[in-house]
Amino acid sequence: MSLQENIEEVRYVDLVIDRVHEALDRIFEYRIPPDLDHAVKTGSRVIVPFGSGNRETAGYVIAVKNRADWDPDKIKDILRVEEGSLPVESQLIRLASFIRSQYGSTMIQALRTVMPVRSKVRPRTETRIFLAMDKEEAGSLLASYDRRHAVRKAALLRGLLNQGSMTREECIKDCRLSMTDLRKMETAGILEIRERILWRNPYEKLERRENRVRLNEEQEAAFDQFRENYDRGDHRVYLLHGITGSGKTEVYLEMIRHVIGQGRQVILLVPEISLTWQTVRRFYDSFGDRIAVMNSRMSAGERFDAAERVRRGEADLVIGPRSALFAPVRDLGLVIIDEEHDHAFKSDISPKYHAAEVARCRAHLSGASLVLGSATPLVESYEKALKGDYCLLSLHKRAGHAALPGVEIVDLREEFRQGNRSVFSRSLREKILERLSRKEQIMLFINRRGFAGFVSCRNCGEVISCPHCDVSLTYHRDHRLRCHYCGYETAFTEVCPSCGSAHVAAFGLGTEKVEDALREEFPQARVLRMDTDTTRKKHAHEEILKAFSEGRADILLGTQMIVKGHDYANVTLVGVLAADLSLFDRDFRSGETTFQLLCQAAGRAGRGDKAGQVVIQTYRPDHYAIRAAANHSYQDFYENESAYRKMMAYPPYGHMMAILIQAARKEEAWLAHDRVRRMLEISQAQEEDPVTILDPGPAMISKIRDVYRYVLYLKHRDKERLSDLRCRLEKVIEEHEMFAGIHVQFDTDPMNVY
Ligand code: ADP
Ligand code: ZN
Ligand code: ZN
Repeated sequence: MSLQENIEEVRYVDLVIDRVHEALDRIFEYRIPPDLDHAVKTGSRVIVPFGSGNRETAGYVIAVKNRADWDPDKIKDILRVEEGSLPVESQLIRLASFIRSQYGSTMIQALRTVMPVRSKVRPRTETRIFLAMDKEEAGSLLASYDRRHAVRKAALLRGLLNQGSMTREECIKDCRLSMTDLRKMETAGILEIRERILWRNPYEKLERRENRVRLNEEQEAAFDQFRENYDRGDHRVYLLHGITGSGKTEVYLEMIRHVIGQGRQVILLVPEISLTWQTVRRFYDSFGDRIAVMNSRMSAGERFDAAERVRRGEADLVIGPRSALFAPVRDLGLVIIDEEHDHAFKSDISPKYHAAEVARCRAHLSGASLVLGSATPLVESYEKALKGDYCLLSLHKRAGHAALPGVEIVDLREEFRQGNRSVFSRSLREKILERLSRKEQIMLFINRRGFAGFVSCRNCGEVISCPHCDVSLTYHRDHRLRCHYCGYETAFTEVCPSCGSAHVAAFGLGTEKVEDALREEFPQARVLRMDTDTTRKKHAHEEILKAFSEGRADILLGTQMIVKGHDYANVTLVGVLAADLSLFDRDFRSGETTFQLLCQAAGRAGRGDKAGQVVIQTYRPDHYAIRAAANHSYQDFYENESAYRKMMAYPPYGHMMAILIQAARKEEAWLAHDRVRRMLEISQAQEEDPVTILDPGPAMISKIRDVYRYVLYLKHRDKERLSDLRCRLEKVIEEHEMFAGIHVQFDTDPMNVY
């Protein structure tokens, strides 16, 4: 063997230093000495000489490679590998590496996603003083204190004999003793000072109720299948497809009990918007203090404590949004993703990962099962279930006594032809009046926020838009115009800035406008409105839902946030005011999104013993998404939707990648986007089966907060081809000067339109 070959066999690692409270922002290179070669893997915890003093420091291997980027002579050796049980960090690093390879971004960005900077929060503690001797002994000691007029010590002993223990503050304030006095008494064997951590928990005031239900046959069958596989160590991915109200949550609860019963932990992901006290409550009733809730509305202290309890194994069930997937759970046995179709499970910042795919990787790393649940699964997921890649569990019936509501479709064009100018069709109005007289509740739903209430000139057609974003401003009742992207606002004037005529007016259907219409047409009704404006304050969202559930209003009016999994027994009518598709035509998912929203909305009606009804008002009454939702038929929807996607080679029958290019100056953004386009075209020119380049040009919203946005969509049947192109582009963009100051993001199988 020549010397040259010998050198090439040496391998190197990229490594991050393990520093608890600091951001992971630098990567270091080390050499693997030959005797450690077998032991070093991505995620390994190793000890290295670090800094100028070569202090022994722990770090995590984030990549193993055959060549060094630095001068090999200056690279130090790894000293040793820490064996034994791998810390949860090792698993998270492997997850980061998976995210990096699947979705692009830098390794540092991927690491920060799985291990966010832990803020420096000190745990809140309580110090209590306990007696360290038996009562008799303490009694005689007390007598001797009294004889010697040791008033303060006597007061302490008396307190401890009466109450069993006292807080440090009580000892210091009420008995006027110092901490030094207390420590001396501890040394003398009189008392014991114990410190305990008080976890910050926003839900600690909940009262636990016992209300376990018996699973019905379908639920039982689904759970049994899961349990049999689980007990055999067969950890699969399940799709729990159950219509709204079929009792999916009860099935989750059984699965969680089973896994926790075997000493392992569970992560349950729910869309952040559904993470309300109602949701938490159902899990709290079963698991009490063994749950840890994480959400972005909690304080830094609360979040720190939740993570710390998980790390120490003091919680068995973690409930949270997408990011809770990275909770430091040690022995993960099960991940559940509820409402798996929700777009909130796709990250909207780089790396743009999808929680279900990453959860699958994490479950695999720790030998856990994964359950995806939904009434309206993504076409991608259902396709996998049909192919046998996922194990399909189905619930076809509503649990308990509740029946599915009847659905009526109203053609809004016909209403207009009949001379009805109201936002409420005649049928909906009649049904609202009926409910009001019977003291039953109503939910009204609009899915047009963001497009609603735009202001334009009737003379020249000019639409008043935000000076910083490429979107129209929205008219609000306080006579102000606001931008829903950047928060810009200005006073409304009737004079057109473009032609000077005085005919500027607001159009469209916003929640405020419907609220006005409700007050006018149904003055007797008590109305609650829920949208981004009324829920800006910290607990506003929950307060509105609570008021409605307690019957303090007759009508709850809102955007899609009202349709998320809330359960009100007294709601017998749900109205969808404009199930309009046309506005979303550029998005190949518009049919799917509309179907999901309508099913969720319809699913709110008739959850109790009283029958429910749904009215869907639409301009597209013949669209398959609307018809299928009205028939409660996922099958009908799936057949139409998958045929359409096959024809167009949209996911899952092909793959897409969006490349979003952003820059502060318009020309720069255009130029960068044009260069990317040309590089792609050249790279595909010789290919037999080229990647298709769609729609190069300005993004649908071409400017946000003064940043210009251009976009390209790539499409190909083979996902690998797209990742390949992404890797090559990432390299050019990183190294080439012409991309300095340009922000490029990749989004694989995007779930929204740019
Ligand atoms: P989903 O999540 O599928 O929409 P839920 O789990 O919220 O459905 O259940 C809907 C309602 O049915 C809840 O009020 C729940 O308590 C009730 N329920 C679920 N399973 C049963 C059962 N086996 N027996 C009686 N009631 C049930
Ligand atoms: Zn703006
Ligand atoms: Zn004008």
